[in-house]
Amino acid sequence: MKFDVILACGGSGSRCDLGYNKLAFDVGGISVLEKALSCFYHEDIDKIIISYNQNDLDWLKSLPLPDNSILCQGGQTRTQSISNALKLVENEYVIIHDGARPFLPRQCLLDGMRDAVEYGNSLLFTPSVDSLRILSDGGSRAIDRSAIIKIQTPQIFKTEEIKRAYSLAPENALFTDDATLYEEYIKKPAHLTKGSESNIKITTKEDCMRAIGADLYIGNGWDTHRLDFDRDLILGGVKIPHDKGLVAHSDGDVLIHAIMDAILSAMHERDIGVLFPDTDDKYKNISSVKLLKEVLQLVKAKGLAVKSVSAVIMAQKPKLSPHIPTIQQNLANIMQIDEERVSVSATTTEKLGMAGREEGISVSSVAVLFRKAVK
Ligand code: MG
Repeated sequence: MKFDVILACGGSGSRCDLGYNKLAFDVGGISVLEKALSCFYHEDIDKIIISYNQNDLDWLKSLPLPDNSILCQGGQTRTQSISNALKLVENEYVIIHDGARPFLPRQCLLDGMRDAVEYGNSLLFTPSVDSLRILSDGGSRAIDRSAIIKIQTPQIFKTEEIKRAYSLAPENALFTDDATLYEEYIKKPAHLTKGSESNIKITTKEDCMRAIGADLYIGNGWDTHRLDFDRDLILGGVKIPHDKGLVAHSDGDVLIHAIMDAILSAMHERDIGVLFPDTDDKYKNISSVKLLKEVLQLVKAKGLAVKSVSAVIMAQKPKLSPHIPTIQQNLANIMQIDEERVSVSATTTEKLGMAGREEGISVSSVAVLFRKAVK
């Protein structure tokens, strides 16, 4: 069974107050629209008709749109826009989806396509999880939430039926979704298919912020330094009592070095050896806390923020366990994130290898960054 898709992109997105259409908003390196398009790669989907707003035409033409997509100019109302797009639909079923829902789970699409073939149409819904009230007589009263469901897209119809419904609807008809219009003119009940809370519609600036919350960047860092006498042992900016310290051009804070490399890796930047070369006298004996602060400035300049950091210190001696809470607290303060988002653990290497022979200390670290600024 073949399906065509209509992606409704005719709105201006003004409620997002971004100064540009919310469909161009960046969610993980691609726009909301491209992300929404990516939900429809399926062997049974023939073409995707993008119902667009005239103001977005130049932007749309600049995108690497899929080969099976067609642009179709929208009308004054949603009804007119979908009506125009339906003229291009040729396959037996049509999937109508909001361009501002970029996170449609694959399973919801598959369930909807299956139900549309079995029952003639499919309408995604989610149950109401909040308590509900209805406004009445200047006040409000509670209503049974189990009797209320929320409707999403995609909504999938037999092409012939939805075309007939639109041909019967007046041009200026205002329907917020296609199932309402379908029921009004075709007089058949809508079949409900379980949707997902992940399938959010990006409507406000807060929705944009939620969307980029899912836009994570992960980096990995590793560092090793040699232990020797007559050096302070500094880990995470904290001086640890020990008869040896780490040898380095800087203060040898191997923990902060690994964390910086993880953060830089998450940003797709080169490592600290490139950023702070040990041939530069400027960095001789410098506190690694200062270097970490410079790296954090770079993070900020890229519109990113550190979400969490995790590190493992590999050292035979000294016993680090009593110092871990202080180290975590210090790192959280420097990075200005919650202490629960900084996890440091320590392990011996069972006297094996370089760390086991107390010749040096290694640290492995992972950092997670997220996009903070709305561009
Ligand atoms: Mg180092």
